[in-house]
Amino acid sequence: MRRPLQDNLKRVRERIEAACARTHRSASGVRLIAVTKYVSLDVIRSLVELGVEDFGESRPQELIKRAAATREWLGRRRRPDDRPSEPEPRWHLIGPLQRNKVNKVLPWVSLIHSVDTLRLAEEIDAQSAKLGAVTPILLEVNATGETNRHGIAFAAAPHVVEVLSSLKRLRLLGMMAMGPNTTDTDAIRRVFDRVAELFQEIRTKRGIGENFRVLSMGMSGDFEIAIESGATHVRVGSALYEGLALPASAGHQTDPAQWAS
Ligand SMILES: *Cc1c(COP(=O)(O)O)cnc(C)c1O
Repeated sequence: MRRPLQDNLKRVRERIEAACARTHRSASGVRLIAVTKYVSLDVIRSLVELGVEDFGESRPQELIKRAAATREWLGRRRRPDDRPSEPEPRWHLIGPLQRNKVNKVLPWVSLIHSVDTLRLAEEIDAQSAKLGAVTPILLEVNATGETNRHGIAFAAAPHVVEVLSSLKRLRLLGMMAMGPNTTDTDAIRRVFDRVAELFQEIRTKRGIGENFRVLSMGMSGDFEIAIESGATHVRVGSALYEGLALPASAGHQTDPAQWAS
């Protein structure tokens, strides 16, 4: 398992570097988030050992389980005589968050990409205050305008950003968007370019400031285009797992036994 994983990771990193080179960007300006919703804990462990520091999960419950198990595993590995262990990974919540799950997930999450309503933002703000924490978030925008999609409408985004920026326990770091569900690269590029334009427009607004600098867009099928359009964070899952035998129930089932070792 480890060998193909290592090769896939290398290839994805090379593709990120190539996309950066094409647009004269530094590869250090793009962060790879390994989306682990399809894989088991041993794959996550291998990715940690291979130097991956950012992980993405789309379900709060799974994020908590995996973050806790990974922390526990890293803690056990740390022995006094050991070399310093890998840094604790950062966990990114990239899928829908219900307000009643906010308090549980907050202690485990480094960045919530999927804030798409004011009510959710207010709940994160309130729960963060209870924890004495400030929570980094991204505003998810509906990049295609399709009504069945998550995300704030483009037209509403500038105003929502202003409101979010005023909430004391949130740190609004930028925006997240999903590309259109198509293989038409021109159509994908048009959507990503539009998101990047909105991102730049918001960035220059007074009072938003230099904290607004994360643009999370691009998945396995379109991360190079996203980078060329200006993405700073790409969320890549399946491209990392090609050729790996995944559990038949790839997705969100987690067999408790797999966490025990
Ligand atoms: C699953 C998922 C990804 C990763 O998708 P791949 O196509 O497997 O790379 C990225 N972002 C979100 C929001 C996801 O749910």
